[in-house]
Amino acid sequence: MKKLLIPSLLLLLVVYKVYNDHKETPHKETHQHWTYQGETSPEHWAEIEKNSDCNGKKQSPINIIDINTKPTNTNENPLDIMYSPNTQINKVINNGHSIQFNFEAGDSIRYHNHTYHLAQIHFHEPSEHTINGVRYPLEIHLVHTGKNKEYTVMSVLAEEGEESQLFEFFESFLPLKEHETKEIHQSLDLSTLFPKNANFYSYGGSLTTPPCTESVNWVVFKQPIIVSVEEVLKLKKNMPKDNYRNEQPIYDREVALNLY
Ligand SMILES: [Zn+2]
Repeated sequence: MKKLLIPSLLLLLVVYKVYNDHKETPHKETHQHWTYQGETSPEHWAEIEKNSDCNGKKQSPINIIDINTKPTNTNENPLDIMYSPNTQINKVINNGHSIQFNFEAGDSIRYHNHTYHLAQIHFHEPSEHTINGVRYPLEIHLVHTGKNKEYTVMSVLAEEGEESQLFEFFESFLPLKEHETKEIHQSLDLSTLFPKNANFYSYGGSLTTPPCTESVNWVVFKQPIIVSVEEVLKLKKNMPKDNYRNEQPIYDREVALNLY
């Protein structure tokens, strides 16, 4: 009997190990990543991205209707753009959703007496925000991060006309394949990115991509800037088709129109 006991125990161990190895075989990750088209398009983001805010009541973008905005005519400007004339660009990334330029730390804005640091800018073609139902050819997002995961995103809309020297600079790093990165380490003056007229709409919303975080102060400049058709087309070729999220319900939110 004793002779048989050890081989039997060994057999039992082998059987147990085979069973457990099988049980622990990792299943292939089935999580689908969000996109702008098809089964993972914006209408499905809330189902795909569990624990996101994508189904929330303070989502972006929105359609801004002029007659529904609240004009505020204050002497005290709530927005102070304190960029240096030598903003340092670190690199450009094609992240599969947009073309994004990342900045070195150093530039910031003051908004309603809080500081937000310029992190990156990226593009949407055509625009995400619409003004009185009008969708612009391009929208530029300047993302700033504050304390406690709060953001201030400045949005510049663009319409087509003369070419923009700043866009010629941005696009000199294209084409970029999906997930390709190029190091830049150059400085540039971002002041020409803003429209001459500083009037802007403001409201509380969200990031327009998952996790659709609802802690974003939106600053949307009323006057569009001008870029050329070719500049829009070049960006378009390097980004997913129609990389914009559809209009979100405004619910009880108010949009202010800050006039100077
Ligand atoms: Zn964006």
